[in-house]
Order: sequence, then structure tokens, then C-alpha cells
Amino acid sequence: MKRTLYWKFLLAYLFFAFFGFLVVANFVSGMTFDHLKKEKAEALYREAVIISNSYASDLYNNNTSMETVKKQLDALDSYLSASVWIMNPSGRVLVDSKHPIDVENQIVVENFDPTITGNTYYTVGNFFGMFEEDMLTVFAPITADYKVKGYVVILTPVSALEQSSNSLLNISYLLLVILFLLSLIILIFFTELVYIPLRKITRATEQYALGNLHYQLSVDSEDEIGYLAASLSYMAEELAQGEDNQKKLVANISHDFRSPLTSIRGYLEAMLDGTIPPEMHEKYLQIVLNETDRLTKLTNNLLTLNNLNAKGMLLEKTDFDLNSVIKNTAATFEGTCRQKTIAIELILTGEKMIVHADMIKIQQVLYNLLDNAIKFSHHDSVIKIETTLKHNKVFVSVKDNGIGIPKDSLKLIWDRFYKTDLSRGKDKRGTGLGLSITREIIKAHGENINVISTEGVGSEFIFTLPCVDTGED
Ligand code: ADP
Repeated sequence: MKRTLYWKFLLAYLFFAFFGFLVVANFVSGMTFDHLKKEKAEALYREAVIISNSYASDLYNNNTSMETVKKQLDALDSYLSASVWIMNPSGRVLVDSKHPIDVENQIVVENFDPTITGNTYYTVGNFFGMFEEDMLTVFAPITADYKVKGYVVILTPVSALEQSSNSLLNISYLLLVILFLLSLIILIFFTELVYIPLRKITRATEQYALGNLHYQLSVDSEDEIGYLAASLSYMAEELAQGEDNQKKLVANISHDFRSPLTSIRGYLEAMLDGTIPPEMHEKYLQIVLNETDRLTKLTNNLLTLNNLNAKGMLLEKTDFDLNSVIKNTAATFEGTCRQKTIAIELILTGEKMIVHADMIKIQQVLYNLLDNAIKFSHHDSVIKIETTLKHNKVFVSVKDNGIGIPKDSLKLIWDRFYKTDLSRGKDKRGTGLGLSITREIIKAHGENINVISTEGVGSEFIFTLPCVDTGED
């Protein structure tokens, strides 16, 4: 954007000013002059008619003397700022308000033609060559016995009209300047409300593009620009959060890969350099094998999580019997349970419970939940797996009497790599990924998973699945 938007706006302003002056200078000046001319002509014509009906008629009827009429015309001359003539139809001027009466040397208007005004009542010009400058002239006939005896002519210089037109035009210019200055307020508003916030937004986006996602963008307006800024900074926050998560994830992964690798390396080196005698090799190779198992599990979990997170995760949904999946999963833990003398109690609704879901993934959910329940259960305890049917949904619960989850950790257990402090001692091989995978799978099915747990008492994980065969409630 740089400064172009501002300059464009400023340019539009200058255009506005330029064309404003152009319009006033051309149209307004012409119109004002025309208007003044017509108004003056009208006023003069009215005077001319009055004179023709009064003094002039009296003069022609010999009811008054030329001197008396001259005096009246002199008064009108200064009142109207115009010359007033009384002349014969032949063009001979009998009385002229500007000159004393001189019967011997009367002015004669050569070629006087009363039709010069056409269909208006005034004419502009040098009045048959009588004047050097242009005159606005009106004349009214003096009639007696239905005959035109003469004319009352009133003449005023056009330059005087131009002067008053120019003073009016100056007022228009002044108004235009005031208007222009006032409309600068719009420019100030534009600068404050649009230009400055836009510059801030641009600067912020540049910073975001450079990777500085923690750059603070503060635009406090509550309009579209404010909304845009708020959305942008929200986007940046989300991106920063994502980036932080990504960093944390990589740090966690590296940490979780490093510790088994370090111990594998340590044992192998000790075996090679003889620190561990050959007769002990089997024991330590077993440990190494366990560590590689852990690495394999970690890698598989990460891959699963990655696939689950991919958009439009594909579920291969089929109708299957949940009861038998539960039974099979429980059976895979038989060995571990025997070691810890843990019993798994199945309380399943119905002979069969047909659900519509991705069987492999639900198997993994059950596996993760049961694996955790066994890991965090005390010796000689019971784990209950129970299914109940409510409103076409199966509620599956996996409940143990283990160490439980501290209240503060309840929300966090779904996060990747999260392990409660309590569990660290009990489970050194856990990756902290199991529950996030579990939740992703249930979410992908459009279902819910929840946990109820009390520290030191036990935990219960409950998730739902859509049931196909409703059976009885
Ligand atoms: P992990 O592979 O470490 O078990 P999970 O994501 O499955 O990872 O579990 C995350 C953490 O939640 C565990 O490390 C443990 O602290 C806690 N947790 C999960 N299930 C239980 C349970 N049944 N009882 C107590 N704590 C549990």
C-alpha cells in the first residue's frame, strides 16, 4: 500500500478543488451576470414605462416644461446610475439627464430603430454607435392619441453590471474556499479512521509474514477496520499457538526418542566393552528389546495421530458386534492381568451389540483405555467394562480402582505427551499419546468421550457409539 492510498485520496481532493473553481469561474460567473443584467433591465424598463406615462407624456402634451422634466430625469439619473433620455422617433434627443438642455445642438441618434430590442425589452451594445463601451439600454414608447410620439430611453454601462457580478463571484469563490477547507474534515476523518489503522494493519501483516507472530496489533475502533484488525491478530495468535505447539511437540518427540536410544546405546556399549559380563547379556538384551518396543510404539502412535489429524480422516465404518470386540480386547491383556492379579469384569448389555463405526479404530480406543486402566491399577483389583444403551447410543465405560487423576490434570490428559506426575513412577514406558489418539478417534465418529476420576480412588472413562440394533432401552 505504501503511501499511495493517501496520495490518491489527496489527488481526488485537488481534483475536487480544481473542478469546483472551474465550474464557478465559468458557469456561475456567466449565470450571475445574465441574472443581474435581466434584473437591471427589468427595473430600468419599469422606470422607463413610468416616465413615459408621466413626465414624458406631459411634455408632449405641453403640460410641463422641458426644464421641469429635466430636473426629474436628473434625480432619476443619480438614483438609477443611468442616463435617461427622451427622444423623438426620428432619433433626436430632446432631454438628456447627463447634459443641459440645448435646443440648438440636440444629440441625434442616427439610424435609430426602435425594433432593435427584438422580442425582449432591452438591448446590449453601443446604441447605434453613440457610445464607446457597451450599454444596457431599455426604451419605452411615449404614446398620445394612439400614436408613438417619442421614446424614453434609459442607458447604463454594462461595465457597472460586470463589477457587481464580479463582487458576487468573489463571494462564490470565498464560499468555495470555505467549503473546501471544511471538507478537509473528511480528509482528517479518513486519515484517522482508515489510513492510520490500515497502515498499522499493513505493518502487522508484514511482521507476521516475517514470522514475528507475537507482534502486537492494536486498532481500537469498533468498525469493519477494527474487526479486520481483531481477526488478523486472532489469526496471528492462533498461528503462534500452533507454532508453539509444534515446537513443544518436536521437543517432546525428541525427548521421548532420546531416552530409550540413550539407554539402548548405554547397554550395548557396556556389553561390547565387557562392563556387562556375557552371562548377564540376556537380561540386558531383554531391556534393550523393551526399549525398542517402546520406540516402535511411539513411532506407531505418532503416525496414527498424524493420520487422524489429517483433514477428512477416512473411517471405514461397518456394522459390527461391540461385545465381541470388547471380549477380544480384554483377552489380549490376560497375561498382564495375571501378572498383576487384576480381574476384568465385563457387564455387557445384550448378547450382541451391533454398532456402526470403524472397528479397527474402536478396537484401538478400547485397547488404549484398558491398557491405561491396567497400568494405573493396583495389584489385586478389578477393572469393569460396562455397556449401557440409551437413546440409540451405547455408552461404554472402562472403570478402574487405580491411582486416579488429580483434578488439575483432568483437562490435560487429552493433550499430546501429557502424563500426570502421579503416573510417572508407575508407567515409565507410556508416551502420553494414547488418550489424544483415543479422543481423535471418538471425535471423528462424531461421538463423545469423558472421564470421571478421583485421585487415589480410581478413574472411569466413558465414550459413546451409535447403535444399529436398538434392542430394548
Ligand atoms: P500414556 O501412554 O502415558 O498412558 P495416555 O495419553 O494414554 O498416555 O495417558 C495420559 C496420562 O493420563 C497418563 O500418563 C496418566 O497420567 C493419565 N491417565 C490415563 N489413564 C489413566 C487411568 N486409568 N488412571 C490414572 N491416570 C490415567
